[in-house]
Amino acid sequence: MQPLYLNNILTKKKELFEPLNAPHVGMYVCGPTVYSNVHLGNVRTFLSFDVIYRYLEFTGYKVRYVRNITDVGHLIGDADEGEDKIGKVARLEEIEPMEVVQKYTNDFHDVMRVFNILPPSIEPTATGHIIEQISFVQKIIENGYAYEVNGSVYFSVRKFSEDYPYGELSGRKIDELMNNTRDLDGQSEKRDPLDFALWKNADETHLMKWPSPWGNGFPGWHLECSVMSTKYLGEQFDIHGGGMDLKFPHHECEIAQNIGANKKLNPIKYWLHGNMLTVNGRKMAKSEGNGFTPEELITGNHKLLKRGYSPMTVRFFMLMGHYASTLDFSNEALQAAEKGLSKLNNAVKNLNKLTGSDSDNSDVDVNSLSEKCYSAMNDDFNTPILIASLFEGVKAINSASDGRIELGSNQILQLKNLYNGFMKDVLGLVDEGAGGAAEGSEDLASNLLDLLIKMRSNAKENKDWDRADKIRNTLSDLGVTIKDSKEGSTWSHE
Ligand code: AMP
Ligand code: ZN
Repeated sequence: MQPLYLNNILTKKKELFEPLNAPHVGMYVCGPTVYSNVHLGNVRTFLSFDVIYRYLEFTGYKVRYVRNITDVGHLIGDADEGEDKIGKVARLEEIEPMEVVQKYTNDFHDVMRVFNILPPSIEPTATGHIIEQISFVQKIIENGYAYEVNGSVYFSVRKFSEDYPYGELSGRKIDELMNNTRDLDGQSEKRDPLDFALWKNADETHLMKWPSPWGNGFPGWHLECSVMSTKYLGEQFDIHGGGMDLKFPHHECEIAQNIGANKKLNPIKYWLHGNMLTVNGRKMAKSEGNGFTPEELITGNHKLLKRGYSPMTVRFFMLMGHYASTLDFSNEALQAAEKGLSKLNNAVKNLNKLTGSDSDNSDVDVNSLSEKCYSAMNDDFNTPILIASLFEGVKAINSASDGRIELGSNQILQLKNLYNGFMKDVLGLVDEGAGGAAEGSEDLASNLLDLLIKMRSNAKENKDWDRADKIRNTLSDLGVTIKDSKEGSTWSHE
């Protein structure tokens, strides 16, 4: 096996990947806060780590992949003040916070399935780990790095930085942070503006709260990730990922909490950050109004979309960029991805029909092509170079399929392993072409249809008739008929 190199955000160096306990790998990725529908930007981050997970498994590692669900404690504004994001939706819609959590967790899972993003090994929730979070806070207090005020507990960044480094991940220095932080306004309970909440006191009106040694309250947002990664992967583990917008304060606070509780330096060996999906150079975000949902993408029902695109086209489009670079959304790029993917899929279909002759064709070097594919992925998971390498072999495959050249049966076997392995197992691309030629595509198509039917039912429940009709008409154009009955809606394909 060729060595794998990762671009470690912590050390800012490309490093040889040496897991603490090979062949086992522990990987934690910050999951979604389930208070709204997932947009395509979120999908990019989870897709990037899906391919990393797939490649590690593909090359023989046994990965325990933990990706959490944030279902409490993430406050509006991403800092220590304001309402809980989930609590706010529950208040406005007059439903239980856990109904909000369930609804958007379901949506998240549906979307992950549509884009063929594998489920993690463990998907823990913050509310399922309140006891562990309380003990973690107690350990940090015992170690002298946190203090209690009026039923809330804060992490003392200054005290911590006397004993351990703080700011290594984001490159921020305590003095600079001090200059850039507003003075406490006299209202705050914090002793220092740099401090952050580990546990917040909840008043009577607060919807989600639990008893603790400091009274009724709820955990701070950064805490769950420290607690759940430590619980399932140990006090030291291999890879921590997430979107790069989480680098500061979320990930920096996580490191401080881990060291503050366990007193072990370097709790996480490699930090990887997925870069942002942008639209005209601006980060795709719900608040910007430029974040469309997968449903809008498939139906084309959004002002930024010239038409609908299939999930695998979008998956391929995203993989044509390196996970650590920004990726700008455009209709032109999606259309190019659609063409490129169809070319590759056709070549794989042709390849799978070939058997080959007894002797190898010395003009075609399959070993070097295979090496190129592995080298690309071993260089910090460089999917664009991998895709370019896969394209390099297309000409030979198609020529063999047309009978213009002949390939040996060994070469054919090698090529089949290479293309099926990298396209399906590593890049996670299943053929959505008409007739369901590839394994898995029928499942995907019916999952997709189920998702659209569910979305149409939601639209009807919300009396959004325009949207419901648009979904029905789009499907009807594709030969899919929706039947409504008392039990719900079903679909059939002519
Ligand atoms: P949230 O639910 O807001 O905590 O976000 C879930 C994940 O999506 C986080 O890892 C974010 O970094 C990531 N994310 C949010 N917006 C984008 C974007 N435009 N491009 C890529 N990742 C994003
Ligand atoms: Zn996190």
